[in-house]
Amino acid sequence: MAEAEHGDARKRYEFKKVLERLENKEGSGTELISLYIPPDKQIYDVTAQLRDEFGQCSNIKSKQTRTNVQSAISSILSRLKYYKKPPENGMAVFCGTINVGGDRTDLECTIIDPPEPLNLYMYRCSSNFELEPLKEMLEEKFVYGLLVLDRREAYWGFLRGNRIDPIGGATSTVPGKQRKGGQSSVRFQRLREIAINEFYVKVGERSSNAFLAEKDFFERFKGLLIGGPSPTKEEFEAGSYLHHEVQKRLIGLFDVAYTNESGLSELVDAAKDALKGQEVIKEKAIMDRFLKELVKEESLASYGEASVRKNLELGAVDILLLSTRLRKSRIKVVCGACGYSIEKTVETGLGQDPASLDHGNCPSCSSPLGVNSESDIVDELTLLADGSNAKVEIISDDFEEGSILYSAFGGIAAILRYRTGF
Ligand code: ZN
Repeated sequence: MAEAEHGDARKRYEFKKVLERLENKEGSGTELISLYIPPDKQIYDVTAQLRDEFGQCSNIKSKQTRTNVQSAISSILSRLKYYKKPPENGMAVFCGTINVGGDRTDLECTIIDPPEPLNLYMYRCSSNFELEPLKEMLEEKFVYGLLVLDRREAYWGFLRGNRIDPIGGATSTVPGKQRKGGQSSVRFQRLREIAINEFYVKVGERSSNAFLAEKDFFERFKGLLIGGPSPTKEEFEAGSYLHHEVQKRLIGLFDVAYTNESGLSELVDAAKDALKGQEVIKEKAIMDRFLKELVKEESLASYGEASVRKNLELGAVDILLLSTRLRKSRIKVVCGACGYSIEKTVETGLGQDPASLDHGNCPSCSSPLGVNSESDIVDELTLLADGSNAKVEIISDDFEEGSILYSAFGGIAAILRYRTGF
């Protein structure tokens, strides 16, 4: 159940983690191969090019680099034998001799089934893996335009997933309502209206240009939110000051007090109902609920790995909150001599392999302890949650409450069904 409901956030988390791991890999020379195969490419065309590249390796001066590149190519060739054609979205292959610390190296091959179709064919040999085309897939698919204004000031930007991206603003020279002595009232009003109109024209043009400059505007620009006091925003909307492609994507007008950069987040809050169902609002609503629970006297909030784990085991968790920034594994270390074993959680940031760490000696017989099994903490806690039908929410860290989950609560928290002693 959790899998189907939260498949997207989960897949995104997994994908991001794999890319991070690959990003930290380095070869000693120009010997790491990145190979991108689009879905419509013939595998035999790819293998033909790889054989050709293998032959060209004789031009590489350094014997070590030559050998490493050749081993990587052979390794890719042997893996491609299992494919009659590329998978539905194509495939990305990363293979090469990696420095693993000390003087040791290791030939590693990773094949990635991308979440979206690859539209390029690429063979590259470098000291790092080329990950840009895959990283682009992590960019937000849809964006919203945000615009706040009154008669004196305006600010615009984007809502990208959970993140507010401020772009720019403008201020007006519209005179205040009080006219100076000696000016005719009618003339003053007239001048004021001209100035207001000029300001609206400027805001309409500059904000429209910013919105239209967004990559793939027509596919990705999902809607526009306008905020400000009444009747300014209504007046601005009625005057069609925006480019018609932007104007026709208007979702609604919302009351906000600020018309500078901080008005943008006020606008997103005010538009909550209009944006319902969007991931940003869902994650924010859950975090808001958790933070409210936290300060209650009869609190149903639980946080920190130890407490949350205990509550999961008791079946007391209603919603499990996990930060996308978690980089930890749950491992079981065992003693080969007497069978003693213990579970613990270790950091896996920067691609650390828990098996390569020193786990000390067995408390009962002093033999060295070794890693017996390892699973990502998100997988492991999700499995525990599934056991009692708890919902699992992966919370991104690109909005304020989301980053608090990681910085203040270690990335693991829960809203409980009932109070426990933990
Ligand atoms: Zn032992």
